[in-house]
Amino acid sequence: MENSEKTVLVVEDERAIVEILKFNLKREGYAVQEALDGEAGLELARSGDPDLILLDVMLPKMNGFDICKTLREEGSVTPIIMLTAREEEPDKIFGLEVGADDYITKPFSMRELLARVKANIRRRALTYAENPAGRVLRAGALALDPATFAVTKNGAAVELTQKEYDLLHSLMREPGKVFTREDLMTKVWNYDYFGDMRTVDVTVRRLREKIEDDPGKPAYILTRRGVGYYFAEG
Ligand code: CA
Repeated sequence: MENSEKTVLVVEDERAIVEILKFNLKREGYAVQEALDGEAGLELARSGDPDLILLDVMLPKMNGFDICKTLREEGSVTPIIMLTAREEEPDKIFGLEVGADDYITKPFSMRELLARVKANIRRRALTYAENPAGRVLRAGALALDPATFAVTKNGAAVELTQKEYDLLHSLMREPGKVFTREDLMTKVWNYDYFGDMRTVDVTVRRLREKIEDDPGKPAYILTRRGVGYYFAEG
């Protein structure tokens, strides 16, 4: 099966949700790892080398935000989809701020969840396919190598999450071109229907903190007020 090489780690304390996720993911051909509390989830995320993590927020022992933040601080770039409760609106944005790639609200449609799992796992392969020559993109002190997904500044590695990388790549390959938030949502997140444009702003902010000398006065990723964002022309 097409997904048979891919492993999804499910970190969720509600046994019934774990079972239904496991059943559906396995039917799609994924291998599934499970953890029923936060500490076990973090441990398995480190040792199990999953291709994607489905991460509940409210968990015993350690919550999903802390797990996500810890993994990103350790340099992990594994795609993470947070599972948030619908009534906890601010949680969506907070999840992105601590480095999640995506979120899905409970109760979720299984079809939508599976589509997002697939899109988040495939994104890297797609990114490479779009630029098979692997031309290294350079601007000032910054370099992005699509063949290895490596981003460096003054030769030092910059650790980016998948969405941060995809966003930077999208902007950097067409310097000067202004992208609307909707453009970036479609290009980077792959969902026309996934309409919260703050997702783009939060990811731009995180990216600026990692690549700009002064994130308050960006020199690489610039804002076109009322329109969107663009990469500085050389
Ligand atoms: Ca829970």
